[in-house]
Order: sequence, then structure tokens, then C-alpha cells
Amino acid sequence: MRHGMSRLRALPRAHLIAGICLVLLLLYPVVNPWQPYPQGVMLLAFLLAIQASSWNIISGYAGYISLGHSMFLGLGSYTVGVLAVHFGVNPLWVAPLGGITAVIIAILIGSVVLRTRGHAFVIITIAMLLAAQIFAVNLKGITQGSDGITLELPFWDRDFQNIPFYYVFLILMVLTVLFSAWIRRTKFGTGLVAIREDEGKAASIGVNTTRFKIVAYAASSFFIGMAGGVYAYYLTFINPVGSFAILGSVTIVLATLTGGRGTLYGPVLGAFIVQLVSEGATVYGGGSNARVLVFGLALMLVVLFLPKGILPTIEEWWRRRHPENVEYTDQAGALSRAPVTATVTVTERVRAEIAAVNEKDEVAPGEILLDVRGVSKRFGGLTAVDDAGLTVRKGSITALIGPNGSGKTTLFNLISGGMAADSGEIWFDGRRIDGMRPWRRGHLGLGRTYQVTRLFKEMTVQENVVAPLPDSRWRTMFSDAVRGHEAARARELLDIVGLGRFANQPAGALSYGQQKLVELAQVLMLEPKLILLDEPAGGVNPSLLGQLTEVIRELNRSGVTFLIVEHNIPLVLDLCDPVVVFSHGAPIAEGPPDRIRTDPLVLDAYLGDDWRPTEDGDEDGAGDRADETTREAVQ
Ligand code: ADP
Ligand code: MG
Repeated sequence: MRHGMSRLRALPRAHLIAGICLVLLLLYPVVNPWQPYPQGVMLLAFLLAIQASSWNIISGYAGYISLGHSMFLGLGSYTVGVLAVHFGVNPLWVAPLGGITAVIIAILIGSVVLRTRGHAFVIITIAMLLAAQIFAVNLKGITQGSDGITLELPFWDRDFQNIPFYYVFLILMVLTVLFSAWIRRTKFGTGLVAIREDEGKAASIGVNTTRFKIVAYAASSFFIGMAGGVYAYYLTFINPVGSFAILGSVTIVLATLTGGRGTLYGPVLGAFIVQLVSEGATVYGGGSNARVLVFGLALMLVVLFLPKGILPTIEEWWRRRHPENVEYTDQAGALSRAPVTATVTVTERVRAEIAAVNEKDEVAPGEILLDVRGVSKRFGGLTAVDDAGLTVRKGSITALIGPNGSGKTTLFNLISGGMAADSGEIWFDGRRIDGMRPWRRGHLGLGRTYQVTRLFKEMTVQENVVAPLPDSRWRTMFSDAVRGHEAARARELLDIVGLGRFANQPAGALSYGQQKLVELAQVLMLEPKLILLDEPAGGVNPSLLGQLTEVIRELNRSGVTFLIVEHNIPLVLDLCDPVVVFSHGAPIAEGPPDRIRTDPLVLDAYLGDDWRPTEDGDEDGAGDRADETTREAVQ
């Protein structure tokens, strides 16, 4: 895939450097076997890298900062320590059980805390670390309390005692990095970054944010727990204060921030730096108190001067020094620098896919697909949506027009699940959806775009389009986002909106109108039955506008139903039927475009004089029809 080259060119280089470093690390004890001290320093760096790289999954990718992550190291240590003491097994063989304990505890904690959003998580993670320490002190029968547990000495010769530990930690580190790299390549990983950038938006495109966060938290605990088991054996002594120390957690955070949060190799690089600095401080600075001071200072300096971390800073600097001549290829693979053309076709495959989804549907064309019944939403004293009723028939392109502030966007939020209604019911596709989480509504085939686009700006355009999940299957969640079926589909959808050549650009670099089109492609990934478009033409230049209406028409012909909020009245009258007019939080009129443009109620409320029919027109007729179309007359 040539179009991927320009952005990825830096990446293979990073893999190459990582590979060379790995070979050197593998050879080091062989070349220099009789020096346990440097081996000991290195293996602690591996251990920190395992923790930092794991922490990066929940706190780097997903952006949920855990400040008690060393708890999992302690849990692993204690699992293995207790098993070793009570059953006499060798700690190395049961180390994986340390990982499993960590995962179980992570799922238990995560299921409670990660249902909510935001800061509660940070606080709880610290609290859990301290709670774990208290448990370890008080469950004397199992943990031997604050006396701690002494494990047997390693069974191998003391002359090269560190070498087996060196290799075990090195292997665990490599596995952790591979695991993290794999996650980042799946739709799961893309979803985590989506959660970091805009959790509400992620939920609306079918990302089960609760599940994603819990799985990420569990995934970030496994290798730490396992390493904890090995670490207990290495130390041969564990106690509550040492195993559940807050300083350990701070070190993990420091290492990851130093190297580059959210990157693959950043946490590893940071771990080596922090470990060496910490060792230096202990040796030359007079003991471990110096270490605390150095850490505090270092954390401050990193946050102030390297807010993104070393790797992203280097990458940025490199890009600036070597501005790339970006080349794009279109679907056929031909190189092209031509501007976007307005030829839009919905490919046969996508048409078939959309048709299949919509044909299977129980709701036949012309029947009610979306039914909003007496829905209200108040913000303090303001009633934004006031006992509103609205139906959208399958196969239609329904317009929702009305003055600014009349509650149209709020109604969209209630339908898509971004907000909960105060009262009323919303039915979609034969099901009541107003109590469902947003992603469930997405999986049913309800997609939306936003008045102010909400793309994930730090992702590429293609990643943005791959991110949505059309269903709740685990297979979909762990499918490859970088190549394969899902990526190919995303490319195809991008080509439909005419932006395939921007696939590898950061989404934030696109124009406003292009971002609106990407958001439409993103919604198509959900295999939608109904798409809510919130002011799709706002800020879009005329040539893109033609493209947009053409895409909407073509998709509609394939079976997709639309509900469109739009201020561009000529576009609405041309594209939509019926037109619903909103005023003060409820519809005041509904009918075909011809009737709406002459409805006196509508003219007063919204359209203004521009759309009033000329004096010698059929004013009587217009009046009659207007009466029929007002809401009161219909009900
Ligand atoms: P429209 O999309 O028709 O322009 P909105 O639905 O955005 O209207 O807004 C309707 C009313 O609700 C406005 O008065 C707006 O200020 C208010 N409103 C919208 N969202 C919120 C919110 N999250 N908190 C408080 N007030 C809001
Ligand atoms: Mg609005």
C-alpha cells in the first residue's frame, strides 16, 4: 500500500533501532557474565519498562490516568509469595498466576469505577493501592502481615544469580511491547484513542466505552502482575510497605511521561532513563531519599519542558527539519496531486452492504423508522425541547428546520443518547431506545454527525473512519484496524466522499467542509439505517456542497434514511421531503417542501419575507394548505 508510506516511513526506522537494541541486550550477559551489578540495574529497567508500557495502555492510549498502578506488581508478588510459602511451589512456575490475579482485581475495580467518566478513576486507583497495603498488613493468616514473606532462594548457582532474572524480565518486556503494539493496531486500540480524545463522540459511533476501558485496564495489569511474581522471587522477601508503595506508581508515570505517553517505545525509553537516573541518585546522591527528591524534580521538569515526552518531541523536530513531500494515491493506486474532484459514486459493494442492512429490516419503506413521542429536555429554567413529537419514515430524507436555539441539536442529542431526556419516549426501528447507551443505538443502525465536527484530531483520517463499531461482537473489536477488511472498508467509504487521498493525513489538517465529509464516512462505517445530520452544509464551500448532496442522495437511493438539520433553505427544499419546522423546542409544522415554504406560521417563525409567495400567487390555497400542515391540525 503505497499511500501509507509517507507517514509510516519514520516507523520502520524505530522498529529497526528497537531490534538492534534488543539484540545487544540479549548478548550483554553472554559477553559479560560475571558482573551481577549492571545486570541487576538493567533487569530493574526491564521491570520498569514492563510497568510503563502496560500503564500506557490505559493511561496513554485511553487517557485514563491510574496513579496506583504499582498495586498490580504487589498483587503479583503476593499471589506468588503466598503460593510459594503455603504450597512450596517454585515462584517462577506460578508467576503467570500473578498476572491472572492482577487481571481479576482490575476487572473488579474497573467494572465499578470505569462505568463513570473522568476523575473518579484517578482517586480510586490511589485509594486501591493503599487499601491493598492495608489488606496485606491485616490478612495475617495468609500474608503474614507486616512481617512479610520470605521466599526460598533461587535454585541456580549464586555466581550468575541475576542472569536468569535478566532474561525472564527481558522476555516479559518484549512480550509487553508486542502486546501493546498489537492492541494499537486493532479497532480496540483505535477505540481507546477515540475515548482519550472525545469519549462522548466515541460512544456515539458504537464504541462501548465501558467495556473498552475495563478491558484496557485489565490488559494494562496482566504483565505487571506476572512480573510482580518474578520480582518477589528476585527479592526473596516481600512486605506490605515495599510491595504497595506509592513511589513505585509515581516512577511508572514519570517513565512514561518522559519517553512519550501514548507512543509504543516511549514508555520503554523513559523506563531506561528513569532507572539509570534513579540508580545514579541512589549511588552518588546518598541513598534512596535522594531518589525521591530527584524524582520530584524530574517530574516537574518533564511536565514543564517536555510535555509530550522525548519521542514525540524528537519526531516533531525531525518532521520540521525534513518537510515531507506528501504524495497521495487514489483507489486505483495512481499517484496524484490533483485537487479534489466532485465525482462521487457509491460503490457497488457499499450499496449492496447498505441495501442488505436495510432490506432485512422489519420496517418497510414508508413506515415509521424513528418515533419521538412527547420528549422534553430542560436545562435549569430553560426548556430546550418541549414535549416534542416527531416521526421519520423509512426511506425519506426528512428535514428539521427552525431558528437558532429552537432545540434541534438538543433533540439530536436525545435521540443519539448523548443526553438523557427528562420525559417522553423515543422508538427506533421497532425498539424503545431512550434508555439505551449511545453505542447500543449505534449498533442498531443510528448514526449522527455534529454541528461542530468532532473528529479525533490526533488520528489520521483513515483511523477516524475505522474507529466506529457496527456491532458489539468481540471479533469486531479485536479486528485489525490498519489493514485487512475493516481498513479496506474505511478506504472505500473515504473514496465515496471523495477524500480517499487524505487517508493518512491527520484529521485536524483538513478543511472544515472536508471534516464534515469525513464525519459522514465515519457514520457510514456503522452500517446505518438512519443518519442524523446536524447542519451538514454549514461552513462547506459550494463545490463540496454539491458533493455532499450527491452523496446523501445516492445513499438514500441505497436505502439509508436521513433526518437533516440545515439552515441552507434552497438545499433543504431541493433535497428533503417532508420538512419539519421546529420552534421553541417543538414542531409547529410538517409537510412537503412546497407547502412549508408558503405556510404563514412557518414564515412568521422562521423563514422570513424572502420565502413569502408573491402577492398575485394563490394566497387562499396557501392558507388552506398551511392549516392542514400545522401540527394542531394533524393531531
Ligand atoms: P439549535 O440546535 O436549534 O440551534 P440547541 O438545541 O443547540 O438549538 O439549543 C437549544 C437551547 O438549549 C439553547 O437556548 C441553548 O443555549 C440551550 N442549550 C443547549 N445545550 C445546552 C447545554 N448543554 N446546557 C445548557 N443549555 C443548553
Ligand atoms: Mg444546533
